[in-house]
Amino acid sequence: MEEIVKLLDKNLECVRYEVRSDRIVIWIKSSKKGAVCPCCGMPSTRVHSIYERTLQDLPIQGKKVTIVLICRKMFCDNENCSKKRFAETFEFVNPRGKMTKRLEEEIVKISMNMSSIQASRLIRENIADIGKSSICNLLKKIVMLFDKRDVRKVS
Ligand SMILES: [Zn+2]
Repeated sequence: MEEIVKLLDKNLECVRYEVRSDRIVIWIKSSKKGAVCPCCGMPSTRVHSIYERTLQDLPIQGKKVTIVLICRKMFCDNENCSKKRFAETFEFVNPRGKMTKRLEEEIVKISMNMSSIQASRLIRENIADIGKSSICNLLKKIVMLFDKRDVRKVS
């Protein structure tokens, strides 16, 4: 499991995992000593609090995967920084994301070639517990990115 977790980010550590009848739950945390303030860029090792985020990830061996990401809220000790506290961020998931980026990519790939109803059925049966509206939002976001790219090409 440690190796699978490291595929997401080499600075991650698997705390524990449970194989349940319908899914695998993996508790993950950063193995880095501290985190860098996204506002001023100063590293900090002073922990304010710890909280958990629940994410969905790609299935393993046909089982859906839930990640419990153990996140730290850190103090920023830079006097000139407007943030006193910040939450640690991870490359593999957006700050408020509910699924890993690699799962998002997979869902987009599946949804490109079928109707949203078919796609949501297939995804919910085999990949992850994600509603049709979340899939639609994801596709809208991608379409918007493409649109912006097209505009840039024209100008
Ligand atoms: Zn800061």
